[in-house]
Amino acid sequence: MDVFDRIGRDDYEQVVFCHDRSSGLRAIVAVHSTRLGPALGGTRFYPYASEAEGLDDVLRLARGMTYKAAAAGLDLGGGKAVIFGDPARDKSEALLRAYARHVDALGGRYLTAEDVGTTQADMDLVRRETRFVTGVSRELGGSGDPSAATAYGVLWAMKAVALRLWGDTSLVGRHVAVAGVGKVGRALVGHLVEERARITVADVTPAAVEWAVAEAGAEAVAVEKIHAVDCDIYAPCALGGILNTQTIPELRCAAVVGSANNQLADGETSPGLLGEAGVLYAPDYVTNAGGLINIAEELAPGGYHPERAQAAVRCIFDTVTSVLQTAEQVGVSTAEAADRLAETRIAALSAVHLIRIPT
Ligand code: NAD
Repeated sequence: MDVFDRIGRDDYEQVVFCHDRSSGLRAIVAVHSTRLGPALGGTRFYPYASEAEGLDDVLRLARGMTYKAAAAGLDLGGGKAVIFGDPARDKSEALLRAYARHVDALGGRYLTAEDVGTTQADMDLVRRETRFVTGVSRELGGSGDPSAATAYGVLWAMKAVALRLWGDTSLVGRHVAVAGVGKVGRALVGHLVEERARITVADVTPAAVEWAVAEAGAEAVAVEKIHAVDCDIYAPCALGGILNTQTIPELRCAAVVGSANNQLADGETSPGLLGEAGVLYAPDYVTNAGGLINIAEELAPGGYHPERAQAAVRCIFDTVTSVLQTAEQVGVSTAEAADRLAETRIAALSAVHLIRIPT
């Protein structure tokens, strides 16, 4: 891989390779953009098959964080980190603390958080070496697990879509098909019960489905059938890539609004297919920004405040509304409209004149 070509193409600011022999640390931190603020993004601990695969992943994810933060109206840039290895086998206090010292050395240009393969307890360890970490436990002044905030944001994205499609934010009697009843899906199902929506679920974990049926009165369908349920909203809350050439023609929903990352299998063709199918797609990174918005509240003056964080997450309603309006007015897909929203905000704020203060 020609690294400078790759990082130059999407204009990454900085890519840092981190190493510590004694603990076996091998990590990459990618800072895509700090134009709006420090680059925030989680640390993924994963047994990548090759260094190229890990580099590719960290670059893709860091750029995604730039767009997510910008569209959410946050004063944050985009970054991400990957640690090479199997978390079950290779994770140790020494390795995490070695990693944290590298994060600290970036002086706040990169703020880390938990991600696949890392936990809140890991971030608490990282906190012992650096203050440039978010998502630490409540006892350490953090905001805790972001999943509830993510689900709350998905709910408000659904309300924005409902207003658009049916002229009312109410979800009473609306049929929502939730794919994946994990941390986010379960909290979302809880909100949908309160909204008195009709709920159908699918999950590869039988206990998750049993909970939804017994506690939330949901119907259950097979995992392979959930995307094709005849419903108002399909909410993918498990894997990415589920909106593809095979599934899109089988959709029987009016809208897709879910938490899963990277729902579009192909950013070029999938939006067009969704348009042809007459399905309104609420872009994933706008819809699932609740967790990031919640974490960003840790950085606010005075520290994390749950009610203020909830109010900030509800702004996803306005962002989704604005994306849907732009898509219609400009005649582009909703995915394209979300990208434009993010890019326009970054460009506008970057252009604001620097006013020098005499020293
Ligand atoms: P999770 O691992 O807690 O839950 C995922 C659930 O999906 C599990 O119950 C799992 O059994 C189920 N599942 C796996 N494969 C499935 C399949 N093929 N069909 C149906 N169900 C399947 O994860 P989570 O934290 O709830 O996150 C869900 C999605 O939302 C992920 O794509 C994640 O990247 C994204 N996301 C999460 C957050 C957050 O705050 N947790 C924030 C932004 C985005």
